[in-house]
Amino acid sequence: MTSDNHTHDRELQQDARAWADFTGTKYTAALRQMGSPLAQGLLGERVSARHLIATLDQHAVIGARGGSPRLGENGFRSEATWRFDRETDFIELALITDMLRMFTPIPDSATPEVGSYSLKHTAEEFLAPHCSYVSNGRLIWAAAALGLPVADPGGSGPNLLIGVPEREHDYVRRMTGSGQTRPKADHHRPAGYEYLQSALARAAAGERIAGAWVRPAPVAVSAPFHDWLVLQVGRNDVIGDLAGDYVAGVRDSDHRVARTPDELLAIFHVVAHSPEAYDAVVSAIAEWMRTVPSAAPVRTEPIRGGEHDHGGWGAGAGTVERYEYRCPCGDGAIVEEHDNVPGFREHDVRIDCSKCDVEWAFVGGRSVRDWGLQPVAVNATT
Ligand SMILES: [Zn+2]
Repeated sequence: MTSDNHTHDRELQQDARAWADFTGTKYTAALRQMGSPLAQGLLGERVSARHLIATLDQHAVIGARGGSPRLGENGFRSEATWRFDRETDFIELALITDMLRMFTPIPDSATPEVGSYSLKHTAEEFLAPHCSYVSNGRLIWAAAALGLPVADPGGSGPNLLIGVPEREHDYVRRMTGSGQTRPKADHHRPAGYEYLQSALARAAAGERIAGAWVRPAPVAVSAPFHDWLVLQVGRNDVIGDLAGDYVAGVRDSDHRVARTPDELLAIFHVVAHSPEAYDAVVSAIAEWMRTVPSAAPVRTEPIRGGEHDHGGWGAGAGTVERYEYRCPCGDGAIVEEHDNVPGFREHDVRIDCSKCDVEWAFVGGRSVRDWGLQPVAVNATT
């Protein structure tokens, strides 16, 4: 046995002894819980029973600090005593802790805004069937022990506010809850969500998860078009309306973030919309390109196409390429063709859509393969 293993075992034993005393259970039963694969710490360190117990006394908000208990089974200011089943109580607290660990920590300066009672339901749905019931008190207990910001909204109720991002919580609630509208985009998915789902399944099957999960570093994605569009919210015109709908759609995970005009058009190719809303998209892209003349022209998604052999016209064989891309409005196509046949070499790209043919034009000075579009309105004098 290595000294690491030895230390680990001794800590487990000390924890089991503390938990046994605290919950009035047998040491061996407590040790069995400590050793469960589900209690090993799936997104971080193994949860310490001694730290959990100390939190109930020492925590700034929920700690008794020598006085009478401030947290009970039903929540804050609850006199309901803890109902320990002595078989899974510790494992459940460890699982609730891991569920809370998957969220991005909120900045210390931010005010917690997710209610413990709502979060308790989400934890229950997410952790099912490994943890069938999560009480309000245990959710608050695990959050406080983990060091998440915990705030008292005032009044006399049993619920506290917990410092996890509200949008990430909304995503998990809608992904796991019954009768919910599922999110259609994943930009609000917590960083540890997928890892924890798979680790839970593996741990439930008895697996020891080797190697710790590493929280991915936040990636600063440059999205100047998105940023510009957000700034147009509140304008009293069609672009202001579009921007308002767009921001609401991102907020509610109805669609992804549009870093570029191409991505905004792609969103409109899958989200139901009115013709007027599409016209507002073209106006917004035109204004964006006037504002930022260095902005890349629009490219659209490929639909079909490829290269095939051609027997040629007497001077040898060659190939013909034909590619189709969606047109900006989505009802037609951009057709790109290349004849690579001896004596007959032609390269051509055209808009095969009567609506887009009027509203869009190819940007000059580019090769056929490198075609790019901009709204005709970019160059219109208004
Ligand atoms: Zn079109």
